[in-house]
Amino acid sequence: MKTSADLRRAVRGIDHRGYPACKALAGGYQFDGFRLFVDHVQGDPFAAPSTLRVEVPHAQAGFPAVLRSSKVARRALADHLTRRFATQLAHCSMRVKGSGKSGLLATSRCGQEVLVRSACEVTDEAVVVRFRAGFPAFGRTVNGDGLETMLLDFVPRCVEAALVFANLDAAQVKAAVDLAEDQHALREAARATGLVAFVADGAVLPRESGASDLPMCNAVPFRSPDTLRRTFDLPHAGAVSGMGIPRGVTLIVGGGYHGKSTLLAALQNGVYDHVAGDGREFVITDETAVKLRAEDGRAVRNVDISPFINNLPNGADTRRFSTLDASGSTSQAAAVAEGLEAGCRAFLIDEDTSAANFMVRDELMQQVVARDAEPITPFVERVRALHESCGASTILVAGSSGAFFYVADQVIQMENYQARDITAKVRKLCAENPDLRSSGAREVDFAGAAGGRALPKLELGEGARGRGGRSDGRSGHDGRCASNGHGRYDSRGTGRKGRGSAHGEHGDTERARFEHAKVKTLGRDALSIGKVDVDVRLIEQIADAEQAEALAYAVRYVLENLADGTRTVAQAAREAMHVLDERGWKPFCGGYVPCNLAKPRPQELAACLNRLRAASK
Ligand code: ADP
Ligand code: MG
Repeated sequence: MKTSADLRRAVRGIDHRGYPACKALAGGYQFDGFRLFVDHVQGDPFAAPSTLRVEVPHAQAGFPAVLRSSKVARRALADHLTRRFATQLAHCSMRVKGSGKSGLLATSRCGQEVLVRSACEVTDEAVVVRFRAGFPAFGRTVNGDGLETMLLDFVPRCVEAALVFANLDAAQVKAAVDLAEDQHALREAARATGLVAFVADGAVLPRESGASDLPMCNAVPFRSPDTLRRTFDLPHAGAVSGMGIPRGVTLIVGGGYHGKSTLLAALQNGVYDHVAGDGREFVITDETAVKLRAEDGRAVRNVDISPFINNLPNGADTRRFSTLDASGSTSQAAAVAEGLEAGCRAFLIDEDTSAANFMVRDELMQQVVARDAEPITPFVERVRALHESCGASTILVAGSSGAFFYVADQVIQMENYQARDITAKVRKLCAENPDLRSSGAREVDFAGAAGGRALPKLELGEGARGRGGRSDGRSGHDGRCASNGHGRYDSRGTGRKGRGSAHGEHGDTERARFEHAKVKTLGRDALSIGKVDVDVRLIEQIADAEQAEALAYAVRYVLENLADGTRTVAQAAREAMHVLDERGWKPFCGGYVPCNLAKPRPQELAACLNRLRAASK
């Protein structure tokens, strides 16, 4: 292996040369105490910065074995180190001058969630971090001095300060790992005792603003009603008390602006762990929980929505329902079926974002529009069957209709941001008014919906494999996919020849990337993979843009490797996540692994696969 001295010599050798000379720096270098790998070199100073990787062997990093003994501990340690390393890089970023992104040093920008990220992995051998560096240049002339400062001064300093245990606040590191172990224990215990969710006393649920995920200052802390209070003994934090939401159907009611949606939002985020200080450290929800909402306009492919929708006026088969433009109610019905297929054990619904006609239909309306003329069986008539025959609980915010009172196992009222258990009162009320109950549900069979459908063979087009590209995931695809109107994409490859080594880097990597369709993301809102688009704006449980980025790669992996007609959507999603767990990011990325990927849940991957559509021209 080359050494840091070799790197210094090479950098000096390209000073004042044209920018492409930087390509020669790709490769690995042994430094004092760590190895630096230049995985990808940018094409010019205005392009996406270069991707670098540092590996610090445990012998040098010095983290005690207890901090990296389990998967849970390693994930928390990696998250903590990502944040520390990002802070160090920020101190050095843009201090070296030049054009475009010259001098930039950055890695993942973690939010409030603790997620597995490509930015840092704690393996059996080493602490591995990935980051971006804008190799400096004036115009397109390499700034050798600046580059030498970045790579041989700044990077070692950041590594030393952020990735070596002796230089970190040991108590802080331990606290991060302890918290993760507590959260893990709480999840297990809650599930084992029949809870779908738990909200600790003292939790801070509201956020600073619609645009900030930080906790609100001076919020009213959460306090469990006595009747729902559960206490768990956690390995580090000791006894933690809070509101346990049992399996079944849970209703959250209350006046407008009393904190119903805030509670539900905290629950839907409770599928992820949160960092210390977030306020939601001990707000945890069954990790398979899916937020259901109306999403009119979305694409739906071969979904059995017959438990909710039958006899559509256009005669469409609702046991294999496909559309490129769903209505509010059909989209929500499809989401239930897709959720069941993806193994969801809890649905979360807020009336604020639901289709009203999907949820309930009142007596008077039933008299005016005869049952037979109404294609929709509302959710209120299906929610018990979902629990009893499919094992899927529901937590539902419903401030405007009493119809759900009759089917709820527990009813929580939010009043001035405080939760009250009003189940007994509601039971009495229902017993006194039996005639207000929504008239009996028809028989329902969810087997078709839950069984899932084969993920059809979706070719990205021969062009996707024919044309090379920069392989930084931002160019190079020319495949064409045409939709037959039901979400199937036929190959219409153009078979153009690759641009090959003109953009080439190095042997294997180039060949691997050469074959992939281009992946693009627009923040956390939209993905495109070759000529396939996925609108993910309303998939609410995508935590951040890095998860969206990883989803784009994961969708591509599925379409290129698993979409052969033999697997259901959910099977393909689970299999892809298994590949990620077992083999890391590499199979998803082909060439080098970028530093901005966060592991999604299989539920969100399935949700993306359920929303594929041919790109508009
Ligand atoms: P609802 O869904 O019942 O209409 P929201 O959950 O949207 O009400 O909450 C209304 C407002 O109150 C929001 O601006 C929210 O940030 C704020 N809020 C919610 N919970 C609390 C709390 N515990 N302390 C202080 N403010 C809160
Ligand atoms: Mg609301």
